[in-house]
Amino acid sequence: MTGHGSPSTDTSSFSFTPLVRLGSGLGRTGVISTPHGCIKTPAFVAVGTKATVKAVLPESMAELGAQALLANAYHLYLQPGADIVELAGGVGRFMNWPGPTFTDSGGYQVLSLGVGFKKVLAMRTDGLGDDDVIAAGKARLAHVDDDGVTFTSHLDGRKHRFTPESSVRIQHQLGADIMFAFDECTTLMNTRGYQERSVARTQAWALRCLAEHHKQTKARADRPYQALFGVVQGAQYEDLRRQAARDLASLSVAGRSFDGYGIGGALEKENLGTIVGWVAHELPEDKPRHLLGISEPDDFFAAIQAGADTFDCVSPSRVARNAALYTRDGRFNVSNASQRRNFTPVDPDCDCYTCANYTRAYLHHLFKAREMLGCTLATIHNERFIVRLVDSIRASIETGDFEAHQADFLGRYYAAKRGTS
Ligand SMILES: [Zn+2]
Repeated sequence: MTGHGSPSTDTSSFSFTPLVRLGSGLGRTGVISTPHGCIKTPAFVAVGTKATVKAVLPESMAELGAQALLANAYHLYLQPGADIVELAGGVGRFMNWPGPTFTDSGGYQVLSLGVGFKKVLAMRTDGLGDDDVIAAGKARLAHVDDDGVTFTSHLDGRKHRFTPESSVRIQHQLGADIMFAFDECTTLMNTRGYQERSVARTQAWALRCLAEHHKQTKARADRPYQALFGVVQGAQYEDLRRQAARDLASLSVAGRSFDGYGIGGALEKENLGTIVGWVAHELPEDKPRHLLGISEPDDFFAAIQAGADTFDCVSPSRVARNAALYTRDGRFNVSNASQRRNFTPVDPDCDCYTCANYTRAYLHHLFKAREMLGCTLATIHNERFIVRLVDSIRASIETGDFEAHQADFLGRYYAAKRGTS
């Protein structure tokens, strides 16, 4: 695998070791090794879209146990520019985060630009029916063709173009330990015909990404190895998902296949475990699997059980900035009037900095007074809550208590929520 004379194949600094299997299924624990440290899986990857987890110091993220951060290629390409991040020494050094980093390819962001609601994309009118309905009445800010995507910047309205090659080049400049292949992200509203064409396009792009990755790795042999993950699409269709996973797993350029795989695209919450399971079943066991974008605590259990090793989630910080806080007894909003005189911690079971030092009444006051510290303290708590939850799930796989832990955690989390909301 290694060889100083042949840097393009020097992947020794990236590896994945599966450890304990969850029953007879696809779930497992493991360790991903990167040039910037190890990630014990399953692991939650905190989101720092623009090279910052909003409102908190990177030191706080390390203190609360975050293992890795994910930034976004699209946002950093537009601002401050991939060249600036490269000059800084890569995204990790730029934001003073010494641990492992991920960047996503920008595919989802460029394709979801400016349209009315989440995961709904504007696209060329070569489709029929639903594919046209999706974009009706919306300014088309992104246009997909077989070569790439042309899009309008959300910052200044200028036109840009992403191709598989440019996305990989940008991600090499950004310097994260783990990068993702550029893919077309569709929605559940697209027709079956469109999904088929889209999966074929994503596969063709995957090969181009691998080729560009090979080229960049060779040209930039003085830098730490960056791993590239292929992304499995196929929406809710079992045959498309399985085929896409098999095809991606078989792709290689100069004898090198993807270092891991992402599971992307539109997933209905109730099918999340099923879809991850189809894909995980088809992917090689010795490669890590990352689920792109996930939201609530029950999703973590479902994804891990179905074989996801890592997943990124923007919810803990996003909802925190709206004063929504996780507790073992469900989510609540600390800006509610009921919290005004509550001098207990956010969650008495939590070991975070916020819970150790502050009360709900104080957080209530900060949010009411629109003080910035409210977002900081709330984000620290929520990020810690999710990190700790995923740590506990990992431990439960190691001790053989996964099912009991799942029943206990979700029973309490949702029972209390039903009772109080
Ligand atoms: Zn806390």
